[in-house]
Amino acid sequence: MTRIVIAGAGLGGLTLARVLHVHGIEAVICERDTGRDARVQGGTLDLTVEGGQWALEEAGLTEGYRAIARPEGQDMVLYDQAGTLLRQEVAPDEGAAQFGRPEADRPKLRALLLDALPESTVRWGHAVQRAESLPGGGHRVHLAGGETLEGDLLVGADGGRSRVRPLLTPADLEYTGATGVELVIADADRAHPEVSALVGRGSFSAIGTQRTLSAQRCGDGTIHVHLTFRCPADWVRTSGIPFNDPARARAALKELYPGWAPEILALVDAASGPVTVLPLHALPPGLRWPHHPGRTLIGDAAHLMSPYAGQGANLAMQDGAELALAIAGGQDLRAFEESMLARAERSARMSAENLDRFLSPRGAEGVRELFARMAGEPV
Ligand SMILES: Cc1cc2nc3c(=O)[nH]c(=O)nc-3n(C[C@H](O)[C@H](O)[C@H](O)COP(=O)(O)OP(=O)(O)OC[C@H]3O[C@@H](n4cnc5c(N)ncnc54)[C@H](O)[C@@H]3O)c2cc1C
Repeated sequence: MTRIVIAGAGLGGLTLARVLHVHGIEAVICERDTGRDARVQGGTLDLTVEGGQWALEEAGLTEGYRAIARPEGQDMVLYDQAGTLLRQEVAPDEGAAQFGRPEADRPKLRALLLDALPESTVRWGHAVQRAESLPGGGHRVHLAGGETLEGDLLVGADGGRSRVRPLLTPADLEYTGATGVELVIADADRAHPEVSALVGRGSFSAIGTQRTLSAQRCGDGTIHVHLTFRCPADWVRTSGIPFNDPARARAALKELYPGWAPEILALVDAASGPVTVLPLHALPPGLRWPHHPGRTLIGDAAHLMSPYAGQGANLAMQDGAELALAIAGGQDLRAFEESMLARAERSARMSAENLDRFLSPRGAEGVRELFARMAGEPV
């Protein structure tokens, strides 16, 4: 029997293991986190019909997904930096969970997949340091702490900084020129009703000149706020902002948004807790590697892109499910890789274009046009 080792229990690795399990094939996942609650898995994700929703169907988890899906999370509002409402979309409550892109909280989605796997599948606290191919075929994975594990098939699902990727390609991450800062507003409805009303049931975007302030309501009563702007890769060190002092960091961040409407900047004031800086990196769009039987990559490990296409989690889940079906069907994994990388290339190019559009000197106008075009309206 083929021994399958997966690095990383993110949405990609878990979907792969679950669809394999449905087909009677067991795998082992080495996960760096020490447990399922070791790290805050915040935020909300919209799952597409052909991406995340299809993968969950293959995983036999559609009912579980419907129970956590929030169709109303598809509501969106778009403002300019002066606080002028440019666009509003309201999701239909009925049927949207089946036909639209309903939101689901990331921790609930991960728990849905984890709960559907045997307890022994995920080896928590097993950080992969490096992997090597063995002369007679197969691979050896070296774990932090010195332990090793061998498998016939090794799948890197360990995110953008994958430790498996060097076995397939020397390609490395490139900085996109933009950095995001994440803030969280707790208990938004009760503690900050005005901010809560401004954000609405779904997502909020305010676009200025080469900077954005966006927010997403999550099912746990929090609102996650992202400030994104162009800056050098080492900005987190050179900015002088004391990120370990969240109140002072938030005040300093507002200074980066001069002239913005006070009601929009109120989202920054309403936040509490840590300030998380996320420099946005990507792998080169259109990345390919020579096929090697016995090892492959999925998800961000294969095609990290900026979040501006809103596709990364969907692609990771689709990759996981497609790879599982190819393994179960005894197929050559070459065709799987070709299909995955072609799909990822389209999304990566879209993501790079969208990043330029959202952080453009034209401000909100280009984004308003994009949403209108996506809705099939004249611009
Ligand atoms: C701010 C933001 C917003 C986003 N919004 C969306 C969205 O709306 N829709 C969407 O589709 N996508 C979105 N994405 C992208 C999405 O989050 C990722 O593309 C997706 O999580 C990729 O899944 P993955 O399983 O490939 O990797 P990950 O989710 O990164 O999982 C990798 C796993 O591997 C583990 N790991 C890492 N290194 C090791 C190691 N050395 N050894 C063992 N384990 C390891 C990690 O702990 C983790 O559990 C967003 C991303 C960001 C940053």
